[in-house]
Amino acid sequence: MLLELGWSSTSLKARRARLQLWWRLGQSDSLLMRSLETQALVGLPQPVQSVSTYNWFRGTATEVAWLANRSGLSSDALRALPRSEFKRILSEELWQEEWTSRVALMRNSSRLRPFAVALVAAQQQDPCEHARRVRWQAAPYLSAVGGLSQAWLLAQCRLGLLGTEEERGRWAGIPRAQRSCVHCGASSCGVYHLLSKCQRLRDDVGVFPVGPFEVSDAWTTLMSCDTQTPAHIWRSLARVVSLLWRAKERRLAVQARSAPEPPVVVDEDWAESDESSSA
Ligand SMILES: [Zn+2]
Repeated sequence: MLLELGWSSTSLKARRARLQLWWRLGQSDSLLMRSLETQALVGLPQPVQSVSTYNWFRGTATEVAWLANRSGLSSDALRALPRSEFKRILSEELWQEEWTSRVALMRNSSRLRPFAVALVAAQQQDPCEHARRVRWQAAPYLSAVGGLSQAWLLAQCRLGLLGTEEERGRWAGIPRAQRSCVHCGASSCGVYHLLSKCQRLRDDVGVFPVGPFEVSDAWTTLMSCDTQTPAHIWRSLARVVSLLWRAKERRLAVQARSAPEPPVVVDEDWAESDESSSA
């Protein structure tokens, strides 16, 4: 979800703040600060490996060593850089590391693998731009669609996180073969089915706004859209997805209300203790 929003992780932001403070302390003329840092680093084994949670300078030393290793500059050389140059190197290295770890994580997930492939393709297409990048690009629809709920809905569809029958069945531990669409009974009941395959669901919605694409192409339009996609296509798509999802939610709510109550399981130990206490 952070990827769709174009956000970095909070741990990256925290590391950036600590290292920027470390650089600023290096510009201080305070003898006390210099003395505290020198004392903290005396006897610190090199290379720095373990992180101290009790001493700020010792804890940050690990991150300074990481930045020195990544940038090829010593800690003294890093502190001697102008502020803007230090900030640029720091932001680039932090983002590059997060990019690598996110791509590795997404490659291990079947639903996120296409996003990893797209990120690697963009890197290979323009390696110079990739090397200079310091922040994620937000999903292109965020600036186009009207509200947060629509952006949230599109993000859930693209990431395969929407609470369709397939996803709800997975949460409940129901075998894949027993999951089915509440509208048409199809065993394929994920986002793809919802957006592009379920005719009964479309009949349930009734009338769709006339858009620049066929409703049956909603999935293709959603997954193939990029930064070149005009805003009016995103808005139309968001409207269509909202209509489909509202109809699906209505039917799921009816099904939940008509489902038989689960049997009450009585704990035998408690039952016995109740009988003995009443006796
Ligand atoms: Zn269906």
